Amino acid sequence: MGDFDEARAWMVERQIVQRGVRDDYVIEAMRRVPREAFVPSDLREFAYDDTPLPIGGEQSISQPYIVAKMLAAAELQPGDRVLDIGTGSGYAAAIAAEIAGRVDSIERDASLAEGARERLQRLGYENVEVHVGDGTVGLAAHAPYNAIIAAAGGPHVPRALRAQLALGGRLVMPVGGSPSRQRLVKIVRRGEHDYDEHAFADVRFVPLVGDDGWPEPGGAPRTYDSRAEPTAPVPTASTPPPLAVAIRDAAEPLPDIDAPEFATFFDRFAMRRVVLLGEASHGTSEFYRARAAITRRLVERHGFSMLAVEADWADAAIIDRHVRDRPMPGERSRPFRRFPTWMWRNTDFMSLVAWLRSHNAEHRERETRFCGLDIYSLSESIDAVLRYLDSVDPAAARVARERYGCLGPWQKDPAVYARAALSGGYARFEEHMVAQLGDLLKSRLAYAREDGECCLDAARKARLVALAEHYYRAMYYGGPQSWNLRDTHMFDTLRHALDSRGPQARLIVWAHNSHIGDASATQMGRVHDGINLGQLCRAQFGDAAALIGFGTHSGTVAAASDWGGPMEVKTVRPSFDGSVEFSMHGTGLARLLLDLRPGVHDALRERLRAPLLERFIGVIYRPETERYSHYAQASLAGQFDAYVWFDRTSAVSALPVSADEKNHAAQAFPFGV
Ligand code: SAH
Repeated sequence: MGDFDEARAWMVERQIVQRGVRDDYVIEAMRRVPREAFVPSDLREFAYDDTPLPIGGEQSISQPYIVAKMLAAAELQPGDRVLDIGTGSGYAAAIAAEIAGRVDSIERDASLAEGARERLQRLGYENVEVHVGDGTVGLAAHAPYNAIIAAAGGPHVPRALRAQLALGGRLVMPVGGSPSRQRLVKIVRRGEHDYDEHAFADVRFVPLVGDDGWPEPGGAPRTYDSRAEPTAPVPTASTPPPLAVAIRDAAEPLPDIDAPEFATFFDRFAMRRVVLLGEASHGTSEFYRARAAITRRLVERHGFSMLAVEADWADAAIIDRHVRDRPMPGERSRPFRRFPTWMWRNTDFMSLVAWLRSHNAEHRERETRFCGLDIYSLSESIDAVLRYLDSVDPAAARVARERYGCLGPWQKDPAVYARAALSGGYARFEEHMVAQLGDLLKSRLAYAREDGECCLDAARKARLVALAEHYYRAMYYGGPQSWNLRDTHMFDTLRHALDSRGPQARLIVWAHNSHIGDASATQMGRVHDGINLGQLCRAQFGDAAALIGFGTHSGTVAAASDWGGPMEVKTVRPSFDGSVEFSMHGTGLARLLLDLRPGVHDALRERLRAPLLERFIGVIYRPETERYSHYAQASLAGQFDAYVWFDRTSAVSALPVSADEKNHAAQAFPFGV
């Protein structure tokens, strides 16, 4: 067990303390309870990862941070009597037992309960009793309780649980109108019939199945009291108009992207130092063309002198040489030949490259540079991992492919981790892989002499090498921390790029909405503590940064089904009722700009602060599981300063990669073959 002490201490520090949990009892308890004893033995290597893990029977052990957050909210005190609903592995019960006087823990699944009982006994928790039963009716025999916590989400707070709270007692549980999406609710009993109640976080728990919870899967549907599902409001004179109507009233219809006026709509952001342009997928033509039009205008009319994009820095450096007509390094280089090639090897981006080159040729005194923000090169690194694992352990390679196929910040599928076990020790190759990726980075940095002037001086190179190990380790496992590290590095590169161009320099960024929309206004930020480029830009530049999001309702998109798979032109499903996109679609406008800056449409802005579903399509699109894999809660007005809408969109046209598909080679350089 000693092996895990460091991981545990690190977990408590990074995931609990640094995220603002202040309850010393909880912090101390989490430092003591060996979480590795509560996860299946083949998943121990992940015991201290920032994620829930499967424990069998489609159930999971909660993410450590969520356990801490709930127990801190329940304000456990020494001597308290606690009811823990949903024993699962018994981990939360053990933490509670470290603090409280006595814990009753109740689990509906008899075999999970048995496992937890045996485990808690073995670890010496004598003040916990595990019961098999339905927690929605509580445990009247042992009530009242000073604290009740539930690790499964119900449609409302069961009546019996309210009644079993002692005066001053606290109840914390996930409550929501859908079995898998909830708000964490805290109730404090102030008097016989007097309860304070408030919600404090968005969460995803397994369903609370029972008499006063959700019906058994496959069982007969039941109806609930009025708390269960919000019913549609009855319109009255004072009811605000439906969201789509309010959006239509505030929206500025946009002309065709190719119309000269299109980009003038964005002049309002021309005084900002950094203008970040998002996209809701990595393969939609309209997003590229609109961003290209805005970029041309900002460069031509407003003196922006650099375009920095979410792309591999070494590949981007070749484009930079091309647009500034500098000699190519060594052999003629052909960039962006690695998955996902269509992200940059597409006709829309190629047109912008051609424009930048001719613009620079005419304005040598104020050249516009092109730069990639991803110095560690996610795609090259993943490529290297997959190639190596393919050669040493194909089973591990399959697992790696699945992990990288996950959608980054929202890794919602703990089962993917479970399959890691089948590979027989993914961890075995970690040291080798981290070393190999480190070597790859060093050779990339050595190769970059001339390109270094943009954002890579010697000191920065040394720092990148020093930090690489941490990044590659996280990246190898594909865990959620790798997201935060990547965005932090992208932000560092952006700052250096800006500094390298002098104090007056202004810069345009192209990256996915998930990097650009302030993460603190999204589920990723609130629940998973994700941070991103847009948020870091706001913190650093304040009002001098403009965060502009893009969205669509339906059409086609270029994407793959799995990491490394071929590009397909997929149909984008019409957006879900209840999503941001659905309200935008409801305006009936084909193209629009919504200005979300303070003081412009404040009433609507306030409404768009409420979290709504929002769609995120990356290089992978899985329409079959779309709701689960591509939608997350986000507050549009918190994320962006403006939102650009194209109701119907189409896939980018990819350029060929292989030598035998020769096509307009001459003028297509550097993409030509
Ligand atoms: N606290 C647990 C997390 C368990 S997940 C841990 O730390 O490991 C939630 C658990 O709630 C599942 O095991 C599920 O079987 C259980 N559950 C769901 N509905 C229940 C109910 N009505 N009564 C008791 N347990 C329930």
